[in-house]
Amino acid sequence: MNHEGQTLGCAWYNADPGKREWAVRRQYVVRRGQARQRHPHHPGLWQRAEALGKSILREYADRTVQAHIFLTHFHWDHIQGIPFFLPLYRKGNTFLFHSPLRRGSELQHAIEGQMGNPYFPVEMSAMGAKRHFLDLEEGPVNINGAVISSAPLNHPQGCAGYRIEADGRVFVLATDTEPGSPIHDRAVRDLAQDADLLLYDSQYTPDQLEGEKKGWGHSSWQEGVRIAQERGVKRLVLFHHDPDSDDAFVDSLVAQAREEFPNTMGAAEGLEFCLDTGEIKQVGALPRIGLSAER
Ligand SMILES: [Zn+2]
Ligand SMILES: [Zn+2]
Repeated sequence: MNHEGQTLGCAWYNADPGKREWAVRRQYVVRRGQARQRHPHHPGLWQRAEALGKSILREYADRTVQAHIFLTHFHWDHIQGIPFFLPLYRKGNTFLFHSPLRRGSELQHAIEGQMGNPYFPVEMSAMGAKRHFLDLEEGPVNINGAVISSAPLNHPQGCAGYRIEADGRVFVLATDTEPGSPIHDRAVRDLAQDADLLLYDSQYTPDQLEGEKKGWGHSSWQEGVRIAQERGVKRLVLFHHDPDSDDAFVDSLVAQAREEFPNTMGAAEGLEFCLDTGEIKQVGALPRIGLSAER
């Protein structure tokens, strides 16, 4: 199989209206800068699935897209953007879906099932792009020079964390994971070793994690800080904010984390990180979809 092309790691979440500053959307895109691209120095960006799809179509114009999609797991908040990702509808494009959690036809069914009647008006078979569903074996895979490893995380029905090494930089995604299981605690630390950027599940407060939210499969800024400190992470980005947390509350969590690990940020809609230069940008307008004033 020809693995030329972009390397994308995506999970999408297409709705939690009303949050502007801090995104609760669980989508992220890792994009590797390549010499033949227009923006070779911007290997990392996070955008909404719909906006990402449109921008890819604009950028590629008449050229075809070949991309890899690595799924963490199949909870709704991580796959709902797929039906709205326009490049999947275009003939000539090719997408390769990867997951260590479901094998063979199970992976295809897990993704296509959400578009089956009566959940969505268009069946996935109507999508014009070629789609391949691949078993992700243990051990790293090399896609066009980007080395991608996965590790099991502690989450109901399972979840995978990813480490992407490319062009001398390391990006690690570890979301939907709860501390307290020694095997998983070790796995997530090994995954995060020396990462330039660790995007980490910080849904709950340390108190919630000890009490009412124990067993829900999520983590806190405090555990993120511990991992970052223990494993030489350069930048920590708190992610998977609780939909019940407002912007001010997320601000307060970030502030607490910064007291212990200064290079901490909160993930927010449209933030773009350049791993090469350390540059951080806010791209695009913040989403206004479904704000209460529009209802
Ligand atoms: Zn989940
Ligand atoms: Zn989730």
